[in-house]
Amino acid sequence: GGPRRCRRLEAEAARAVLGAADTLLFDCDGVLWRGEAAVGGAAAALGRLAAAGKRLCYVTNNSSRTRAAYTEKLRRLGFPPAEPRHVFGSAYCAARYLRQALPPGAAAYVLGSPALAAELEAVGVPHLGPGPAALPGPAPADWAQAPLDPAVRAVLVGFDEHFSYAKLCQALRYLLRGGPDCLLVGTNRDHRLPLEGGTAIPGTGCLVKAVETAAQREAFIVGKPNRYMFDCVVSEFNIDPARTIMVGDRLDTDILMGNSCGLTTLLTLTGVTTLDEVKGHQESDCPARQSLVPDYYVDSIADLLPALGD
Ligand code: PLP
Ligand code: CA
Repeated sequence: GGPRRCRRLEAEAARAVLGAADTLLFDCDGVLWRGEAAVGGAAAALGRLAAAGKRLCYVTNNSSRTRAAYTEKLRRLGFPPAEPRHVFGSAYCAARYLRQALPPGAAAYVLGSPALAAELEAVGVPHLGPGPAALPGPAPADWAQAPLDPAVRAVLVGFDEHFSYAKLCQALRYLLRGGPDCLLVGTNRDHRLPLEGGTAIPGTGCLVKAVETAAQREAFIVGKPNRYMFDCVVSEFNIDPARTIMVGDRLDTDILMGNSCGLTTLLTLTGVTTLDEVKGHQESDCPARQSLVPDYYVDSIADLLPALGD
């Protein structure tokens, strides 16, 4: 109870907080690595946590890699071995959602990456795309004549570097044809992907918004801060929220999901968030902003190492 404090997790408190947890959920980019470079000391810290018997899971909004690709990246960067079932990417979670929500044999029209298609295949959801939409004619108005697959009962939007107006047309046509019976699912709403040097590229949220705007309806979002991603972890491992720590670098995804699911939340400053942003939320009276404040913070998860010493 009481307002969250965002206290720095020093060695002594860290020992107590980690001792009371049996599972840690790690956001990936900005926490474990930045792009292709591991955060210094992060692999060693996770190695010690694994050696201490903690269950380590990985929760990422990035829909452009499969679970298998994440286990390979973890291995390559020196993190303790992980099995695909410990990885909860938004591509896998979206596939899992559609398998459960679609009637047998129904297909999804996909704006996304080959990884998203691979995860759908792995759980047995038929899909069209990704790939270029057929263009039966030179003008956008002709595109409304492109054939529609009768099996499609869902539109799924993930990170799609080949997003196009033609695909947006097809997505809208499926949603108009199916009406409310056609599902509209987005992997995540991250608005930007920050790059080194203060620049950024548009995130999947921009693509989801485009389809939502065309269809004039709201997508179901699989990724953080929606609790669906946490529910996937629970159904795989039956974890206890009160003994689980969510570690993330982003307030409106990682920390918000952790707080709303009853987890202990730990912010790390190796990613997109500064302490000044947290302070702004903390000083506000708005309950929605209070729910963005983590329980604890560290400069880097490498700071957990002293608490894990033998
Ligand atoms: N979406 C895409 C396409 C990304 O490339 C990334 C980060 O690299 C993310 C989302 C955010 O991922 P995470 O939730 O691991 O921070
Ligand atoms: Ca992140």
